[in-house]
Amino acid sequence: MSHEDVREMISAFALDALGPAEIRRVEAHLRECEECRQELEALREVTAVLARGVAPVAPPAALRGQVASITRARPQGRRAAESPRWALAGLAVAAALIVVLGTVDLRLSQRLATLTTRVETQEQVLALLSSPSARTAVLSGSVTASVRLVYDPARARGALVVSDLRDPGSGLVYQLWLITGKSPQAAGVFRPAPGQPMIVPVIADFRRYQIVAVTVERGPLGAQLPTSTPILVGNI
Ligand SMILES: [Zn+2]
Repeated sequence: MSHEDVREMISAFALDALGPAEIRRVEAHLRECEECRQELEALREVTAVLARGVAPVAPPAALRGQVASITRARPQGRRAAESPRWALAGLAVAAALIVVLGTVDLRLSQRLATLTTRVETQEQVLALLSSPSARTAVLSGSVTASVRLVYDPARARGALVVSDLRDPGSGLVYQLWLITGKSPQAAGVFRPAPGQPMIVPVIADFRRYQIVAVTVERGPLGAQLPTSTPILVGNI
């Protein structure tokens, strides 16, 4: 299997979505190709963040029993249980069931809204990852954090996947920039909750930019142009 063939399948491999024969062929190539090994490592960190991001928004305990009794009928293999896709499918089912069960409790419906939004965002990232034209940019700099931009230049869609990034400080936000030459374009602000991974959707024509960067700016809206040195930078 050629490098190009593997490059197109590697996100499916990272998501555990290939058949046994394909897995063996990809593994054979990985043993010989450092570039594909690095790409796989980056994708695996992203999928690990996705899996962690799902956990804190599990349905409330009272509903869990009802949901579980219905979802038990679903196919449950070892692979199915481990796959992020299945985890998300399970959450989507749980979210749908809460609606079907007709619960009107306000707190519950708020949780459901949060849950649905997170599932949708994570599904978008999974859809990104499973696109053959998807790319990953690793951001690094003066802070310790795992921050990656997953983007699909062909579809102008991307997401910043953030974990282990500390609070920016009172009244401050992190701001994302896409940079071509010397002109930075604001691409969104975010504040990670302590200990929580975060996914920030980004819609842009990524083919126009060479650099992605993060600065600390005044909240809640951020700045029109960066006012400080980026704390994280990556190449697109
Ligand atoms: Zn390769």
